Amino acid sequence: MQDTLHHIRQTLHQNPDLSGDERSTADRISDWLKPTKPDIIHRHIGGNGILAIYGQEDDPLILFRAELDALPIQEENNLTYTSAIPGQAHLCGHDGHMTILMGLAYRWQENPLNGVRLGLLFQPAEETGQGAAFMLADPVIAGLNPFRIFAYHNIPGAPLGQVLIKKGPMTSAVHSTIFRFSGRSSHAAEPQLAHSPNRVIAQLLLAAASMTRQDRTDPDFTVVTPVHTRIGGLAYGTTPGQGEIHFTLRAADDIRLATLQTLLTAYASKLAKEDHLELSHEILEPFPASINHPGSVKQVEIAAQAVGCDLELLKAPYGWGEDMGHFLSAWPGALIGLGSGVDQPPLHHPSFDFPDALIQPGVDLFFHLLMQVQP
Ligand SMILES: [Zn+2]
Ligand SMILES: [Zn+2]
Repeated sequence: MQDTLHHIRQTLHQNPDLSGDERSTADRISDWLKPTKPDIIHRHIGGNGILAIYGQEDDPLILFRAELDALPIQEENNLTYTSAIPGQAHLCGHDGHMTILMGLAYRWQENPLNGVRLGLLFQPAEETGQGAAFMLADPVIAGLNPFRIFAYHNIPGAPLGQVLIKKGPMTSAVHSTIFRFSGRSSHAAEPQLAHSPNRVIAQLLLAAASMTRQDRTDPDFTVVTPVHTRIGGLAYGTTPGQGEIHFTLRAADDIRLATLQTLLTAYASKLAKEDHLELSHEILEPFPASINHPGSVKQVEIAAQAVGCDLELLKAPYGWGEDMGHFLSAWPGALIGLGSGVDQPPLHHPSFDFPDALIQPGVDLFFHLLMQVQP
């Protein structure tokens, strides 16, 4: 079984699909699931999503979710299964997360449980923050009433197989925002005649630093990161009249993130007005905070102990966003961190490769969560 799962993981790694375009990965998963004989299987949910359910209709449903997508980054590994597609690679470990769910399907086939149903959710477009919301918008998913939902993310830098978890916010609420300023250009010799976004954008760059409070053990932490700016063009005789600035914003929960956005927008509006600029703004790639349900966290603690995983109770949420937050707003459950090794390169690093040694502990832990729900 171990060999089969390693082969599955490496095949997925070699054949990465980008967010929203996971058709071939979904085909593979679906082919591998068939022999495990799910009682229900739905495809094309919210794009390329798959739902497979095992067990009797009236029993409580425990959902386990993994992500189908890879990243638009060139892999820099020399493996027998290095990505076969230039500029695309599984550098976030979603190949491993999917494989753990496959392992769960095989485990159920060997040892079906009574009094509980196993649900596997393969989600598209996690990296763009869209897939969970797309799946939840589908009547098949909206009609589910799971008792619990669980998912992992592997955590580079933490010891291999260590379980990392906390109650409440597990990952930050994150979104990006764009402010576009439109004024009037002038000759570069006469900047006083322009309505230029120069000063406004400079002030906003400084504001980002002063609005950032990095200590995530404080629930009022905020991170405002400028990610892109553009003012005018390569026209050296012109004082620009157009410009834009893009930020990514983070906070402990969705309400605090909304407050942060309101403050930043109000400041941008004030500056724009002072300099006679039209302002438009938009919000994109929203990731709600993943809020872990206390009862589900307790279950994870019990499971970790039972299967012999080291347990680390986190003091602060992670700074990254995870669209598991959408599912955790809908249903009780938990996002679990699973250490992928102290020497593992960071997520999205060109030489990241999910360790196969993490598959078995992952399957054991998830299967224990199912067994706990049995009557
Ligand atoms: Zn990622
Ligand atoms: Zn990821």
